[in-house]
Amino acid sequence: MTGAEVIERPYFYTLPVWLIAAFYLIAALSLAVFFYGVFRKIKRYRQGRRDASQPFTAAGLLRAAVDVITNRTILRGELLGGVGHLLLFAGFAILFVATLLVLVDNDILRLLLPQWSFLKGDFYLGFSWGADLGGMLLLCGFLILAIRRGVVKPAAFQYAERLQPQGFPKPGTLVRQDWLLLGLVGLAGVGGFLVETFRIRATEPVFETVSFAGWAFSGWLAGMGLSQQGARAAFGYIWYLHALTALGLIAYIPYSKAWHILVGWYGLALRPAQRGAAMAAALKQTGEGYASVADFTRDELVMLDACIRCGRCHVACPAATAGFALSPRDLILALQRYVTNGDGASTAGAVPDAWLWSCTTCVACDDVCPLGVLHVPMLIQLRRRLVADGAIESRLQEAMTNLNRYGNSLGQSPRNRPKWTQGLPFKIKDARKEPVEYLWFVGDYASFDPRLAEATRSTAMVFEKAGLNFGILYESEQNSGNDVRRAGEEGLFEMLRDKNMKALEKARFEKIVTTDPHSYQALKNEYDGFRVMHAVELVDELLQQGKLTASNKREVKVTYHDPCYLGRYNGVYDAPRRVLASAGARIAEMPRHGAEAWCCGAGGGRIWMEDVPGIKERPAESRVREAAALGGVEALVVCCPKDMVMFQDALKTTGLEGKLVVWDAMELVKEAVCS
Ligand code: SF4
Ligand code: SF4
Repeated sequence: MTGAEVIERPYFYTLPVWLIAAFYLIAALSLAVFFYGVFRKIKRYRQGRRDASQPFTAAGLLRAAVDVITNRTILRGELLGGVGHLLLFAGFAILFVATLLVLVDNDILRLLLPQWSFLKGDFYLGFSWGADLGGMLLLCGFLILAIRRGVVKPAAFQYAERLQPQGFPKPGTLVRQDWLLLGLVGLAGVGGFLVETFRIRATEPVFETVSFAGWAFSGWLAGMGLSQQGARAAFGYIWYLHALTALGLIAYIPYSKAWHILVGWYGLALRPAQRGAAMAAALKQTGEGYASVADFTRDELVMLDACIRCGRCHVACPAATAGFALSPRDLILALQRYVTNGDGASTAGAVPDAWLWSCTTCVACDDVCPLGVLHVPMLIQLRRRLVADGAIESRLQEAMTNLNRYGNSLGQSPRNRPKWTQGLPFKIKDARKEPVEYLWFVGDYASFDPRLAEATRSTAMVFEKAGLNFGILYESEQNSGNDVRRAGEEGLFEMLRDKNMKALEKARFEKIVTTDPHSYQALKNEYDGFRVMHAVELVDELLQQGKLTASNKREVKVTYHDPCYLGRYNGVYDAPRRVLASAGARIAEMPRHGAEAWCCGAGGGRIWMEDVPGIKERPAESRVREAAALGGVEALVVCCPKDMVMFQDALKTTGLEGKLVVWDAMELVKEAVCS
């Protein structure tokens, strides 16, 4: 470095004044287009209703800040895409700060207060090194994401032509839009380096060795025969090309999925700590469902816009994978489109009915979304609208009629509800007539389905063995209404809940226990103020307290299926595994377990509906194949009556009967503690 050299950057270098003036004009235009887009977005969000039920909290905001800075929700589950995005994000953040510094220094201080200009000397050297680092990170991220999109081509990026609402973008259009944004980012990154490289080549300031990448490229260009004059002559063109790309990118942000840069944190800050309780709060509102944009909450309208089309919800969706019409990603895109173009029009036709009826409400989509988009509450609100309009799926209608008439979906006389108790060596207390500690809410399938009678009796035997003071509601129990509510029949849900509440209010008990995760969700989160346990949670406690002893352990290798309404909705993952281990079982986990468990396909009222023609493989069939593929596993253990029914059927249709059996966890426990 020579003593005479001034350590700073000539920003516009060879550009004539008129081109500099034109640049500021174009920059102003770009900002005007950007802010017009922002204004339109905000105007649209303000069409939604306010929802005070799930406000921002300091903890939520803090968690969102950590999510954004670390990219941990993006890294979760998809390493290549996660690392690519993290590098791109880090590079973008550094270059954004560097651009702000240049803006303040060059466009404000050097013009108004030159003595305060700070981008010189050692600070400039640090800045220049940092900007090079940012540029390199951005380009590495870009390369990874481009290779992933163009070469690896994960299933998440495949936009299959499926039943779609009118005007839904064609797969090719979506793919081109995705490439356009990624291409603009890559071009901006490459352009930044070219500007730097040509400037360094033209001026060759020794201190610019800190710009390690620009310096190296400049040396390479010199080696290729580019003269200083040549670099000087080309600089202006390259500078302008880069400026136009960057300004174009800024203007494009509110009109593309790059909008997530500004609103991606929103859904993360509102991400519920417990999905079951949050869902209950969301479903308390607007019993008639969503008929227009004004029915969506403002939070939902922002969340819709945050979607980056990563397709993770699409891949995690059992309905989409099975070949049903629905894709949760396309649902969000269709709603985005409706909100953008709808101008207050009805939601009818915004999303095909078949999409809405395909959902099992397993919340895998909500759980996996790296931006915290909540699909399912909106989907249920749209189902409510269909029900209000009488556009209900035919077999679902039949189940609803049964529920209305008999209080159960199977069309059975209420007198048959306690029939399963016949054959027990003791009489179960009638909680309507005498006080009990535990009120056992048995549920429809566990009460009526003959395939489940043995499992239900096993539960009774285990409770009796533990000396539990428990009873049931006998004929007074009604379906809890969980799936009725998910199917969009809010009125019927309220009727069933009122009837159950009346019976429960007459009974004297301290806690409710149930083997049915669907009833568990409803009673715990959607009824009023009960203490509710799943049977496996209670048995886990009893085993730990020594009130139950597993004296006849059956050493057997099993796998365990996490029911959606126990796992993802209510976070109960460990208790069933502890209980099974206590009973002697060794658990081999399926690849999709815990929060990533594959839904059996029964939830959200799907168990009552017709199969879809042309279906590839039912979710339950995929699940039993996954269990059987583990090898050496004797049984698929469940703790949901609906799982038992679904998986037993799936064993038959997949030809896996004889190779695998389905057990209820309580059957294993009974064998261990009662023999
Ligand atoms: S809740 Fe489950 S079935 Fe419904 S859209 Fe989401 S992932 Fe698909
Ligand atoms: S909703 Fe979420 S998971 Fe689904 S495509 Fe959009 S960002 Fe990805």
